Amino acid sequence: MGKFGLQFKATVEHVTNIRPVGDDFRWYLKLKCGNCGEISDKWQYITLMDSMPLKGGRGSASMVQKCKLCSRENSIDILRDTITSYNADDSEKFKTMVQFECRGLEPVDFQPQAGFSAEGVESGTQFPDINLQERDWTDYDEKVSESVGIYEVTHKFIKC
Ligand SMILES: [Zn+2]
Repeated sequence: MGKFGLQFKATVEHVTNIRPVGDDFRWYLKLKCGNCGEISDKWQYITLMDSMPLKGGRGSASMVQKCKLCSRENSIDILRDTITSYNADDSEKFKTMVQFECRGLEPVDFQPQAGFSAEGVESGTQFPDINLQERDWTDYDEKVSESVGIYEVTHKFIKC
């Protein structure tokens, strides 16, 4: 199946360097089996901390699982070096924030939740704990007396 990029888009107000924090950041995904077309009904998450062996000694992946319907073994791996921050300049444009190496499946949906951080564009004020589940986040930067926010968060997947 190959590589898939998760593209992120938002309207950004006075913050930059929006990024997932830490190896325990959870990428919540829905995955589709490439063999039978089954899509998981529950959100599943993968993190950089998780590593499971692939069959036949072919390395490892963030998650290896058998499709509930057709029993084929599929896997998905987070490509660590592809993780990129979303910046003030990227506002209202799609940008690839991470790529996944997929075998036998593809990601079809993404749910941002907690674990993002950002900083004030001019102030450098740190906002270390941002939850984007509601698709909108707002706060106040006291250093420069202005409101900050990340709005209308949306995404799409592209084949890389
Ligand atoms: Zn299947």
